[in-house]
Amino acid sequence: MEQLHYDKTRRFLHECLTMNHEQYNQFLPEVEALVQQHVGDKVYFRGLIELSNICVKDCYYCGIRRTNSTAHRYQLSLDDVMSAVDISYDQHYGSIVIQAGERCDKAFVDYISSILKEIKQKYDGKLGVTLSLGEQSKATLQKWFELGAHRYLLRIETSNRELYRKWHPNNCLHDYDKRIETLRTLREVGYQVGTGVLIGGPSQTVEDLVEDLLFFQSIDVDMIGMGPFISHPNTPFYNKNETNEDLKSRYTLALRMISALRWLMPNINIAAATSLQAIDPMGREMAVKAGANIIMPNVTPKQSRVDYQLYPNKPCVDEEAWECKGCLDARLSMVDKSVGYNEWGDSPHFFERL
Ligand code: SAH
Ligand code: SF4
Repeated sequence: MEQLHYDKTRRFLHECLTMNHEQYNQFLPEVEALVQQHVGDKVYFRGLIELSNICVKDCYYCGIRRTNSTAHRYQLSLDDVMSAVDISYDQHYGSIVIQAGERCDKAFVDYISSILKEIKQKYDGKLGVTLSLGEQSKATLQKWFELGAHRYLLRIETSNRELYRKWHPNNCLHDYDKRIETLRTLREVGYQVGTGVLIGGPSQTVEDLVEDLLFFQSIDVDMIGMGPFISHPNTPFYNKNETNEDLKSRYTLALRMISALRWLMPNINIAAATSLQAIDPMGREMAVKAGANIIMPNVTPKQSRVDYQLYPNKPCVDEEAWECKGCLDARLSMVDKSVGYNEWGDSPHFFERL
């Protein structure tokens, strides 16, 4: 009986991802009703702080991978981080996300701890804090949690073990099982746990994406951030023949993934990935229309944004942080959404599980 239900779900998800334009437009009101019922009509902002592009890993798809010698490496100073935090607070974003390349050395771990202490001292719970700093030990994750971080994003990138192997070097730094284990550890420590996948990566099929959605459900995730893969010129996955059509079809697939996931897990937080906006200027707003309820405006100091190039054509590299807000307000009203200012905007799923 359970198997039958599972097979039906899998079939429906497959249909969602392969719907034509008309069918998808007919499905959207159903998705919107689920959004209203389970997460409400507000979109929540997280000020995104791109702390550093220094990374020990060498993921084949990523522009800041360790062996990309053309990348100009940086790490924001504590003052720069705190001014980005101040901007988020002043703009009433309610939460921040601190993201960086992966490092587990003591200097880095201690630096993050000192940032968290500073935020706690200055804002004492007035800002929600999400981290996206790759795989870390349980002791580190525990420490950061105690210092005030309460949400963590760690994309699995693909739930297909063989594909994971193709997308990463075959060594202990890039271990599929360790990534899954870290997701479990995050849950044990008490974080609201987020993951996600790349959409349209090399050799990935629609069936893989259906399995990704089922994987999210199986680990009972609280938040998802997933976006289209965009090939970067200084990576092994660069495809010089990538056309606008290729990007557009990944974009379309990414929107369908969001809608399918909202149907499957209606009360989780789903972020509108910035890589959508790199393909279409209205990408994030379209993601909200498709069922996403989180947007991450960039608050990184302008001079460093350009160096945090996971993929090319990254949007908003020329804008000051305060310029983003006005622009986002206007764009969201176009899709009939309001913003949950000054609110953490936690995942209802997390609290319903407790
Ligand atoms: N180092 C941390 C966080 C920063 S990378 C980590 O890897 O978890 C954040 C995300 O950027 C990755 O999870 C990956 O899904 C995405 N990303 C990297 N390269 C990309 C590309 N070429 N196109 C689209 N997204 C990419
Ligand atoms: Fe480093 Fe994350 Fe990029 Fe991998 S995806 S190379 S871990 S920044």
